[in-house]
Amino acid sequence: MNRAIPSKARAVIIGGGVSGCSVAYHLAKLGWTDVVLLERKQLTSGTTWHAAGLIGQLRASQNMTRLAKYSRDLYVKLEAETGIGTGMKQNGSITVALTEERKEEIYRQASLARAFNVDVREITPGEVKEMYPHLNVSDVVAAVHLPLDGQCDPANIAMALAKGARQNGATVLEGVKVAAVHQKDGRVSGVTCVQNGETFTIETENVVNAAGMWGRELANLSGVTVPLHACEHFYIVTEPVAGLKSLPVLRVPDECAYYKEDAGKMLLGAFEPVAKPWGMDGIREDFCFDQLPEDFDHFAPILEKAVNRMPMLETAGIHTFFNGPESFTPDDRYYLGEAPELKGYWVAAGYNSIGIVSSGGAGMALAQWMNDGEPPFDLWEVDIRRAQPFQKNRAYLKERVTETLGLLYADHFPYRQMATARGVRRTPLHEHLKARGAVFGEVAGWERANWFAKPGQAREYKYSWKRQNWFENQRDEHLAIRGGVGLIDMTSFGKIRVEGRDALAFLQRLCANQMDVAQGRIVYTQMLNARGGIESDLTVTRLSETAFLLVVPGATLQRDLAWLRRHITDEFVVVTDVTASESVLCVMGPKARALMQKVSPNDFSNAAHPFGTAREIEVGMGLARAHRVTYVGELGWELYVSTDQAAHVFETLEEAGADVGLKLCGIHTLDSCRIEKAFRHFGHDITDEDHVLEAGLGFAVRPQKGDFIGRDAVLRKQEAGLSRRLVQFKLTDPEPLLFHNEAVVRDGRIVGTVTSGNYGHHLGGAIGLGYVPCEGESEAEMLGSSYEIEIAGARAKAEASLAPMYDPKAERVRG
Ligand SMILES: Cc1cc2nc3c(=O)[nH]c(=O)nc-3n(C[C@H](O)[C@H](O)[C@H](O)COP(=O)(O)OP(=O)(O)OC[C@H]3O[C@@H](n4cnc5c(N)ncnc54)[C@H](O)[C@@H]3O)c2cc1C
Repeated sequence: MNRAIPSKARAVIIGGGVSGCSVAYHLAKLGWTDVVLLERKQLTSGTTWHAAGLIGQLRASQNMTRLAKYSRDLYVKLEAETGIGTGMKQNGSITVALTEERKEEIYRQASLARAFNVDVREITPGEVKEMYPHLNVSDVVAAVHLPLDGQCDPANIAMALAKGARQNGATVLEGVKVAAVHQKDGRVSGVTCVQNGETFTIETENVVNAAGMWGRELANLSGVTVPLHACEHFYIVTEPVAGLKSLPVLRVPDECAYYKEDAGKMLLGAFEPVAKPWGMDGIREDFCFDQLPEDFDHFAPILEKAVNRMPMLETAGIHTFFNGPESFTPDDRYYLGEAPELKGYWVAAGYNSIGIVSSGGAGMALAQWMNDGEPPFDLWEVDIRRAQPFQKNRAYLKERVTETLGLLYADHFPYRQMATARGVRRTPLHEHLKARGAVFGEVAGWERANWFAKPGQAREYKYSWKRQNWFENQRDEHLAIRGGVGLIDMTSFGKIRVEGRDALAFLQRLCANQMDVAQGRIVYTQMLNARGGIESDLTVTRLSETAFLLVVPGATLQRDLAWLRRHITDEFVVVTDVTASESVLCVMGPKARALMQKVSPNDFSNAAHPFGTAREIEVGMGLARAHRVTYVGELGWELYVSTDQAAHVFETLEEAGADVGLKLCGIHTLDSCRIEKAFRHFGHDITDEDHVLEAGLGFAVRPQKGDFIGRDAVLRKQEAGLSRRLVQFKLTDPEPLLFHNEAVVRDGRIVGTVTSGNYGHHLGGAIGLGYVPCEGESEAEMLGSSYEIEIAGARAKAEASLAPMYDPKAERVRG
């Protein structure tokens, strides 16, 4: 029988898995009573019904941990609210390490957990054995215990969320498939859906794509990019084991396995290193509570190790071999937020096998985002705007997801690069750099030379938590930039042209710095939100009276384009992505001027080409626009070269550079140089949650220029004073390394985390940036404290500074 489908709704949520149910629940709680959730078959019939139900709070960052903790708390109280038993129990979890490297990882995670107020304890193998008598701990090196982790019944969690949504006024309908999402004037205007062969239309300005592994196809219909693909995902459940009683959840990542005791049976799940993509030719129309065929051969290597780890499995007998599909994304992180291509098109999908633990928090965050028009806190790591349009290519996804499933339990070494689906975006210099020893890494699909191998040295990463095999290469590159001249290919920069009659007024409104500058001037600025948080960190070069070039990190290009386009009102302004049209060759170091003068007849003196200006120059037999800016803190020029001339300009520089010791440098060196200079990195040190003044970027803010987005928040903060500040730290012991997420300790107490870290090869120790609370304190009081950084449980002494430790007066930059 057909149930009445409303003709209008404030939001239509597509998909009745845990994700869609959570968004509906939280929207309804916020008073969005006229929301409609449409499920093509039955609630939970996609992936949700068969999840293992592990609820682990510890995630890779503070805000992801905050969301997981929120889920846990919600699932604990949902039963009382809805009367549906969620099966949520806090039996704790144990993660064991079988190698020294894994020990370092889990101990680092424990330090991070403490910084996030998650209850965690390092325990000995003996203590593991006490808590988990069935376990073979003979080769266990270390372990951590999180007593408030637990497990739940995923299907019931979704049902309880759906019931809670209904209780607060939402409509939840099963057997209704969304066939199309309509748009008008760049905004969602409605959906067409089908119920028992009959077609209906719902007028709405908001849809939420919570369609799980159907999400990519559904988004495609609307020209929206949601790159995800399903993989087969396995677990087995034993027959009942005599005497088996409640145990903590157990993770043995070194054996790609997790264990869960459930009703006297043992569940063993796998995150195998090479996964099996599924559904390449689409998903059957009648898919509903489906299982996929068993594949014992695929599971066998995991089972073999598990039998050694938990000998009782040898005799327990297998009751169920389960294989179900789940969606995975190219970077193993889910998608949340408004799609850049279409206003009102929201996404909550692609959960990479952590959808149950994530959805409670993700639903809350998305609902608030929809309600307020901005995320409640920094969600950049899961923001849909990080997706690159090319990533919806199915061949790419098919290859990449074979890797991302296994990464859940792989060693999460710093600088770890994806091994699959590489080489999609290459700069015109790719082959040149490769021939000269480049070892590439990938960001947003771009292949970038991360470091250069020496002749005879293996061109590959050897990962570790200690110094990796490229440490000395980076040191040589770093010192070349500090003392001579280096060349870095930064073609992956996002380049955006903003032009038209109103371009200046538009940018004045969006940027915090003064944009009304002479032609040829380059301005470092931020685009702020109304809270004074940083939406974008960029340079703007005035090319003409009506044309500006915005240069942004390659990883944030789609986000920045979306932010700009979203703010165009009736102004006459055109925003164009010109990233692929120009290469960027950075010539940096005290000898940069000498090199430039060898390859160009133009004048590179301070008088003719001062810092913060761009000039067209002749170089070799070609042309470039030389931007006198630097992200490494030295004299230098970024050469913007039409891509067709990039190879020629490179060869010209290389030939002339032989006399002045020009060294090819990689992105790791760019990063180690910038952190010595305390230049901020968007996504780590500065996010939409970080106030521009607390980030120490007040020098780039001009409230006196007139109104701009975020100005009021800047004035308010000036009045009220800063409640925290971004501080630069240097470890006094030159040995330990900082990557990011280590705990910042002030006078013996953890007060924050390192937002980004690298090695200061010139300063002689690991350098990190991190926020320190400073309510009502002077700079001197702050710096008067003693600081340490906690790394994997051990504390290392640190010097702290608010001014850059390297070249604080910027004399080197001014050349
Ligand atoms: C073996 C296995 C074990 C797992 N273990 C865990 C675990 O321990 N912990 C954890 O956190 N996660 C786990 N997961 C992952 C978790 O199950 C998923 O991440 C989560 O269920 C995804 O929920 P979802 O709502 O995004 O997708 P789904 O549950 O698939 O829901 C999407 C829904 O959208 C509907 N739909 C699609 N298209 C349309 C349309 N056009 N119109 C209307 N409806 C539509 C579908 O029918 C479907 O019901 C596991 C997954 C697997 C496979």
